[in-house]
Amino acid sequence: MIEIQGLTKAYPVKDGGAFTAIEGIDLTVQDGDIFGIIGMSGAGKSTLVRCINLLEQPTAGSIRIDGVEVTAARGKDLLALRRKIGMVFQKFNLLMQRTILDNVALPLEIAGVDKEARETRAKELLELVGLGDQGSKYPAQLSGGQQQRVSIARALANHPSLILCDEPTSALDSLTTNSILKLLRDINRKLGVTIIIITHEISVVEKICNRVAVIDSSVIVEQGDVAEIMAHPKEEITKKLLGEVSWDA
Ligand code: ADP
Repeated sequence: MIEIQGLTKAYPVKDGGAFTAIEGIDLTVQDGDIFGIIGMSGAGKSTLVRCINLLEQPTAGSIRIDGVEVTAARGKDLLALRRKIGMVFQKFNLLMQRTILDNVALPLEIAGVDKEARETRAKELLELVGLGDQGSKYPAQLSGGQQQRVSIARALANHPSLILCDEPTSALDSLTTNSILKLLRDINRKLGVTIIIITHEISVVEKICNRVAVIDSSVIVEQGDVAEIMAHPKEEITKKLLGEVSWDA
């Protein structure tokens, strides 16, 4: 379970003041959830991701993963915690000079796993994402959807308990989007991995999330069960994201 309480991140700005990118964020993500965090550009989504994946130190607040406060972790403890969080990015972030197999094996290489064990694991993961026969190819030889499959396999390499997906389908067409969302759902069901998806697209939330939080101007304005929020959106921004009111209203 991931428990976020009062999470705040303020960036220093030129005039000596601070810009608060996220403020007082409270979220609870249960094991096995596919949790959507939706908001418009500039709402604070990336800042929240960078705090959850421990790349950014929050200004205030707490993040507990399975009861352990992670914001206080440093050095080796921090690296070990980061390994338990897989990342999937909008633009795949694959290394173009490495084969597909070596891309998937990279997190294991960094973790010091020996060559044979990491190749076995990478092959197993490529099978899981439907690319078992593509391991010797290079990223440029694959379609966008296939490259995203590789990045999902890479995110799973260290047996994470959480996968954080930052706009995972925003660079893909709608058919490919559906196949990637289906893959994420299958992985969630098969492996029991908790998934957090950051998105600006309500269709992504509708298709695979069971819970959702809406972020607007640095704060969470509403959160809950997806079906419930869809049926009874309370906030103006949620209604806009759902297309129930126009952006001019
Ligand atoms: P989103 O991912 O929802 O588009 P971000 O988290 O990237 O939102 O940004 C939220 C706000 O915080 C934006 O106004 C952005 O300009 C500001 N911001 C993000 N990172 C920094 C930074 N390193 N320094 C100053 N301001 C930042």
